[in-house]
Amino acid sequence: MSQRAQPAHIVVLGGGITGLVAAWRLVRSGVHVSLLERSDRLGGVIETQAHEGAILEQGPFSVLVRSPVFAELIEDVGLDPIMARGKGSRGRYILKNDRLLEVPGGPAGLLTTPLLSMRGRLRLLGGLVRSRPASGDDECSIHEFASRRLGEEAADVLAGAATMGIFAAEATELGFTACMPRFAEADRTRRSVIGMMKAIARPRPRPRPRSQRPAIRGTVSFDGGLRSLIEAIEKRIMGEAGPRKDAEGRAEIRRGVKVQQVDRAEGGFHVIAEGEGAFEADGVLSALPRRATAAIFKNLLPEIALDLDQMDDAGLVVVHVAIHHRALDSVPEGFGFLVPPAERRCPLLGVIYASSVFPHHLPDGSGLVLLRAMLGGTRSPDSVEWDDDRIRRAILQTLDQHFGLRGEPAWVTIRRWPGAIPVYRVGHAARMRRIAERAGKVPGLVLAGNWTGGLGINDRVEQAAEQARRLSAAVSLNTPA
Ligand SMILES: Cc1cc2nc3c(=O)[nH]c(=O)nc-3n(C[C@H](O)[C@H](O)[C@H](O)COP(=O)(O)OP(=O)(O)OC[C@H]3O[C@@H](n4cnc5c(N)ncnc54)[C@H](O)[C@@H]3O)c2cc1C
Repeated sequence: MSQRAQPAHIVVLGGGITGLVAAWRLVRSGVHVSLLERSDRLGGVIETQAHEGAILEQGPFSVLVRSPVFAELIEDVGLDPIMARGKGSRGRYILKNDRLLEVPGGPAGLLTTPLLSMRGRLRLLGGLVRSRPASGDDECSIHEFASRRLGEEAADVLAGAATMGIFAAEATELGFTACMPRFAEADRTRRSVIGMMKAIARPRPRPRPRSQRPAIRGTVSFDGGLRSLIEAIEKRIMGEAGPRKDAEGRAEIRRGVKVQQVDRAEGGFHVIAEGEGAFEADGVLSALPRRATAAIFKNLLPEIALDLDQMDDAGLVVVHVAIHHRALDSVPEGFGFLVPPAERRCPLLGVIYASSVFPHHLPDGSGLVLLRAMLGGTRSPDSVEWDDDRIRRAILQTLDQHFGLRGEPAWVTIRRWPGAIPVYRVGHAARMRRIAERAGKVPGLVLAGNWTGGLGINDRVEQAAEQARRLSAAVSLNTPA
């Protein structure tokens, strides 16, 4: 294989976290990068806003750091993370029979938790030490997995609450392998859930030993909210900050550029954008949402587009409520609560006690409590269409029931996200394998984005770093990515 004389030119589609991290990694590897983003704002669904002196995370709230790659990114872009501590990082509750019950932190708590019946608890504890591995190759649902290993009750209550909070869909709908690939792998061989957990234990996330900072782990955000991460990566890509001045001039970020189509061209690709003509590229890294990916690759990769068209997305509504301490009978402390599917009377998916997790989200001395409630997912898909009054009533009624509201909140904001979460239904893993195999036959092309490889920001960063590494190696050597 021959080396190139000139650095390769790679076009990155989409300026969400996936596209930005990929672009940064590509620039660092020495290639030229053009990042094309449709809107005039980078970050995609990461949307931090200032409101009455508060920090509002209208999209994702925090990053659950599980990988050294994320910890390295933070170090690399020169950010100091703020980690949730104490009660704000623990204190997780589940709604059961209209009451908020704390999720036990360990086996001792599991013995006594009122979240499950005595029978349910014994079944769960038994499954932790001995339970049946998966048989056969077909992907099961998260509920089927949890039920087989830990019992039906734990699957309904614990898995039922957690999946809606993480994937915006029910445990019965979600593909276990697609949502939890490492768990699914361990599920084939291990004879206990404790054994599975040991098998997937990752090395503790810590940055390279460049600094003496404590290990970055758990629930993380930044001084200015998650927008700080987006801004820091952008600066690094453009060579405007930090020691890597050599990046200067090797990258461009173009906002307001809507990509319409990608075609093969001699030695590479033509990326066609609305009103911009064609960008010539040696390689393309697509980091677009599901629908946009299907539309843009309809001509080049029709079978992949068809597969993507057959997936569906769920919408979410994010509601922030700021209430004076004195207007609450009890002040919520902890991380928040989730609502399992059996609690049909509660229309919410869950509530994060935002100012308990990150006190810096409110200005000093405000006397307020900031709560962030979520509605929607596959459980109530029409709630993104509800008018503001209906949403407000649903949220305030629930908050009143659990924390006793005395009077009106100081303020409420509502942000709707129609179709923002791709649903990893049972069968997703096989579809993704098919897509990866077909895309792998097009040298110089990489398809990424949150419709594959995990929804969470931690997973996005890991995927972007890995795909950028593959693509940069492939285009430098003229081999398939
Ligand atoms: C309400 C909400 C809450 C969430 N909460 C959390 C959380 O607390 N923690 C967590 O880890 N994750 C959370 N997630 C998931 C996580 O935020 C997302 O999966 C992740 O940020 C997606 O990043 P992305 O870059 O892959 O996609 P996106 O952020 O969707 O970025 C894709 C980009 O492509 C651009 N684009 C689209 N079409 C075109 C086109 N034709 N041409 C050019 N550009 C185009 C878009 O404008 C966008 O900027 C949440 C998601 C939502 C919606």
